[in-house]
Amino acid sequence: MAPFLQVKDLTHIYSQGTPFEHKALDSVSFSVERGEFIGVIGHTGSGKSTLMQHLNGLLKPASGSILLDGQDIWADKKLTRQARFRVGLVFQYPEYQLFEETVYRDIAFGPKNMGLSEAEIDRRVREAAEFVDIADKLEVSPFDLSGGQKRRVAIAGVIAMEPEILILDEPTAGLDPEGREEILQNIESYRKAKNATIMMVSHSMNDVARLTDRLLVMSGSKLAMDD
Ligand code: ADP
Ligand code: MG
Repeated sequence: MAPFLQVKDLTHIYSQGTPFEHKALDSVSFSVERGEFIGVIGHTGSGKSTLMQHLNGLLKPASGSILLDGQDIWADKKLTRQARFRVGLVFQYPEYQLFEETVYRDIAFGPKNMGLSEAEIDRRVREAAEFVDIADKLEVSPFDLSGGQKRRVAIAGVIAMEPEILILDEPTAGLDPEGREEILQNIESYRKAKNATIMMVSHSMNDVARLTDRLLVMSGSKLAMDD
């Protein structure tokens, strides 16, 4: 059987053909099985965010491929669209993308785009809000929340799409120790409840070593270690 997610010889070049050309990913290969919790670490600029943005089809490879259940996500438009739903990506500082009048509507934004029924959207919003401990704030404006709470609302918005794999790009960056711990516990409880596949980019070797079962190390656009 094909691996759940497979990255093969993935290369990405920013500003190709200009003086600013930069190879941000250089022939990166690895695969992920269902239920794994994978940590991704590496210095700033090593290509971690670029790699994560390829996994749900947000960026297109210069060469190489990303396969979900053995199918190349760029093979046709339908597969690319499916990848956006199947692989949920929480960006770095995702709270800057909150824009709705209430927390409820912000969390509902993704599921609405999926064309689900009102009842199903409602169920998902409430469940996702429970996972990030924000269920009592659904009618509040996201702008009235603390930094950590905003971050959790943004994470709930991706969880509510029920992705098969959840990717978080430095989910604890810029938070105080309490806010960091809350987010890590939210992720852990989501993983346990759903037996979810998770990839988490982190600056904290400590967090990653404590929580994840496997580590990818990026260095200078290459995958330096997979252990
Ligand atoms: P990391 O997440 O590990 O800090 P990134 O994937 O963000 O690394 O960036 C990898 C390299 O690509 C860096 O040298 C960065 O400056 C460059 N880069 C990132 N985004 C862009 C972009 N949109 N245009 C040009 N270069 C970029
Ligand atoms: Mg980054």
